[in-house]
Amino acid sequence: MIPANFQYTRAGSVDEAVGMLQEHGDNAKLLAGGHSLLPAMKLRLNQPGVLVDIGRIPELRYIRNNGDHIAIGAAATHDDIANSDAFGNELDMFPQAAGLIGDTQVRNKGTIGGSLAHADPAADWPAVILASNATIVVKGPGGERHISAGDFFTGFFETALADNEILTEIRVPVPSGNTRSAYAKFMQPASRFAIVGCAAMISADGDTCSGASIAFTGVSDAAFKDNNVSSALEGNTLNSGNIESAANGAAQGVDIMGDHFASEDYRQHLARVFAGRAISAAIG
Ligand SMILES: Cc1cc2nc3c(=O)[nH]c(=O)nc-3n(C[C@H](O)[C@H](O)[C@H](O)COP(=O)(O)OP(=O)(O)OC[C@H]3O[C@@H](n4cnc5c(N)ncnc54)[C@H](O)[C@@H]3O)c2cc1C
Repeated sequence: MIPANFQYTRAGSVDEAVGMLQEHGDNAKLLAGGHSLLPAMKLRLNQPGVLVDIGRIPELRYIRNNGDHIAIGAAATHDDIANSDAFGNELDMFPQAAGLIGDTQVRNKGTIGGSLAHADPAADWPAVILASNATIVVKGPGGERHISAGDFFTGFFETALADNEILTEIRVPVPSGNTRSAYAKFMQPASRFAIVGCAAMISADGDTCSGASIAFTGVSDAAFKDNNVSSALEGNTLNSGNIESAANGAAQGVDIMGDHFASEDYRQHLARVFAGRAISAAIG
């Protein structure tokens, strides 16, 4: 439980942090809230020679409603998001998911940027980010890149981020029309990580579903969007029978994880149940 020796440096700005990553190469790791990296270092699963602390860069910690999108700085904590009123009814799944993460200490230190960069297959944010069709902004020595959420999560603890890049912002489009969203999860009782988590964003035209975006975390080695469920909903009346039948198609054709918390069969069952709950909660 004692990490290997490392050097600690604190960056005062994003550009300074990018410079430090350049200087130290793959011997360096960014430190944000430390609630995923430090446990991994204590178990010696990760042994960076240099930690570049970006947790106190003011320009990375904000949540802004920019009209057509909400901009979330990478260093916004889970607690900042849980208590923000920037998201409105349409994107209510953001504060909901944030409030379900870990405990008070985790929510006060852990950041959305750290969670997305870490890409734990049981983390909550990836499902919400995918369902909301967000864009992830990263900065490296070559400048800024914009990565769609669908291209960001590439595998088990893997993302499209390069070693010398910093995730700086998440841009969440504000949905138009009559759209509502919700996040529901079956949580591991000690850590509260998602055994299965489902984010649902549903648009309606009267009683009819005019658009659906459904994403899961915890089910597979990386979060994913479930187009079977959304296409089964779209164009149909939003009643309990149609929701149940759409939710029954959840996590099909997916390589489902099995572990000592939940078998593959149980996870598939949970995916159906929590898809139904998230969709029902979204439409109220
Ligand atoms: C007891 C406990 C319970 C938890 N429960 C949950 C839960 O229920 N749900 C959940 O989703 N999570 C949970 N977590 C994880 C928690 O949310 C972490 O805070 C989060 O996953 C990582 O954020 P961080 O800011 O702490 O990142 P850090 O631990 O500082 O960093 C994590 C990784 O991301 C990299 N990184 C950090 N910031 C950036 C950036 N801006 N750009 C590029 N790379 C970056 C780091 O180099 C490191 O590799 C739990 C953690 C603990 C300890």
